[in-house]
Amino acid sequence: MMCLRTLSDSVVHSPHPENRMHDPSSEPRRSIYYQYQVRRPWLASQHGPQPRHPVVIAGGGPVGLTAALELARHGVPCVLLESELQVSEGSRAIVFTRRSMEILQQVGVSGRVMQHGLPWRFGNSFYRGQRVFRLEAPHDDNDRFWPMINLQQQYLEEFLVDACEAHPLIELRWGNRVSGLVQQAGHAVVEVDTPEGPYTLETEWPVASDGARSGIRALLDLKLEGASYEGRFVIADIRIDLPLPTERLAFFDPDWNPGNTVLMHREPMNIWRIDYQLPEGETPEEALSMPSLQARINAQLEMIGQGGKSWEMDWCSVYSARTLTLPDYRAGRTLFMGDAAHLLPIFGVRGANTGFQDAQALGWRLGLVCSGQAPESLLASYSAERVGAAREIIEEAGKSTRFMTPPSRGFRLLRDAVLSLSLNEPFVRPLYHWRTSRPHEYTGSALNCAGDDNALFQAGPAHGAPPANVRLGDNDFLLDHLGGGFDLLVFGQHVPADVAATVQSWKDRGLSLRLLLVGQGGAAPGVDVCLADTQGRTRARWGVKTDGAAYLLRPDQHVCARWMALDAHRLNAALKQAITGVAA
Ligand SMILES: Cc1cc2nc3c(=O)[nH]c(=O)nc-3n(C[C@H](O)[C@H](O)[C@H](O)COP(=O)(O)OP(=O)(O)OC[C@H]3O[C@@H](n4cnc5c(N)ncnc54)[C@H](O)[C@@H]3O)c2cc1C
Repeated sequence: MMCLRTLSDSVVHSPHPENRMHDPSSEPRRSIYYQYQVRRPWLASQHGPQPRHPVVIAGGGPVGLTAALELARHGVPCVLLESELQVSEGSRAIVFTRRSMEILQQVGVSGRVMQHGLPWRFGNSFYRGQRVFRLEAPHDDNDRFWPMINLQQQYLEEFLVDACEAHPLIELRWGNRVSGLVQQAGHAVVEVDTPEGPYTLETEWPVASDGARSGIRALLDLKLEGASYEGRFVIADIRIDLPLPTERLAFFDPDWNPGNTVLMHREPMNIWRIDYQLPEGETPEEALSMPSLQARINAQLEMIGQGGKSWEMDWCSVYSARTLTLPDYRAGRTLFMGDAAHLLPIFGVRGANTGFQDAQALGWRLGLVCSGQAPESLLASYSAERVGAAREIIEEAGKSTRFMTPPSRGFRLLRDAVLSLSLNEPFVRPLYHWRTSRPHEYTGSALNCAGDDNALFQAGPAHGAPPANVRLGDNDFLLDHLGGGFDLLVFGQHVPADVAATVQSWKDRGLSLRLLLVGQGGAAPGVDVCLADTQGRTRARWGVKTDGAAYLLRPDQHVCARWMALDAHRLNAALKQAITGVAA
């Protein structure tokens, strides 16, 4: 049965194109430090007939752009439709985690982020002028990336756009707004409005990455589940020269904003983010008036001993926390990701950082489904894993959010008790822990091998975990060698002949699978990469005690099987389960 819905109930598919004109702004957005580039809209009249595309992504924010690059890495061409003609307004996401950097490394933009971003790892919480908690995020010599790096979202989007535009498998269409969707048995028809009127295009898999106010979510009548918090924050980016390091600063109950919270972060280009909570009942209009902004920002600067310094406003907005997710990220043939799928509080930097993991988790699965190597049912595991991740994040984020902006009198009393106790009692200070975004471990995933030796390992990344990085040389890390397809890591001096033959037979059937021998380095027949682990660092971090142990990683680098000893039968079983979700 055919189902035709349009984004706005009042707009029905119109035979008159002029009624469906999309008019994105061609005025560059204003910023005192970032120069917006306005792109030309993609117009159907300048192109030939449209074939059916394997994947069409709606929304070219950080998540849609990353998904396009992921798909391209797995050999799937896609059309990426972006309604605007330029990257996003204001800095928005400014803190990116180590795992996000590892994902961005896979799609080729981590170098530019490192070049422009500000890495950091300390967070400080202050109460009544006293520092009551200092958190040091773990940072190992084995990690290529810092726990956090600060960079404004516009820059990250620009880097991703450049990578997309340089990729022959990605067609990025600016000024193209998805306005309708018809889902049919084996494909969907996407209706797109442009500055010259509408056109339609067919796709096997529409992907909704159209942000927090997802029109596609509304179109399919899908409801987010969860909570919205009342506390409102002003987010202000100012240019100012402050002699402070790049660390997170959180101020609880400051004199100038009693009972409320203030956060500060350094951004590149001498920009500082100041987030402050508003008293109950204050409207966004009142909060964003210039006199109000000036008085509060000056009060904060005064409080940190930087009063009287001149500053300039770049961007400001009002924000309130929500912990919401769709219960299923697949609706018919449409797949959801990023803010279109879930809304997470910015405390703990969860929005974009979670979205990158969605993009990575969807990319390889769609790659296998589109190339006919995996059944459509593999996509059910995308939804199960990522909804599970969102729910875990919501649980954790809820704790931070309730601490930052207590939702009731009871929570406030508790929070205030912790604050005052923390002045003299060190044991309560860990309650300030900000619980930053971290990668989800797909411990119970249907793709994890049922009959391997996971339970026998005493250390190392377990079922569903992301990989642990290891320094192999000055500027050479284990993760530099992983990803893009399945990776089989065999530890020892050689790969058993039946295992090598099995790898080859999967490759012959078109599966992207690489065989890596972690041992002496050099070369070995049938092995794609020989890594030298002469100091045994990889063995130690991966919990390997004997030669012959092995790990199988999915294309998103999460572990799906590990063995003390491997043979052809065990490898076949693990690969079949990772591709079908059914235990062999
Ligand atoms: C003030 C603020 C601070 C934040 N700080 C952080 C942080 O430090 N760390 C973090 O991880 N996250 C942070 N976030 C959240 C982060 O910005 C979002 O989670 C992230 O932008 C989500 O990316 P997305 O690609 O899913 O959606 P978006 O960035 O919203 O992108 C959606 C895109 O879809 C386009 N679009 C919309 N409708 C259509 C349509 N019908 N057709 C075609 N295109 C369409 C839009 O133009 C947009 O480009 C912050 C957010 C805010 C507001």
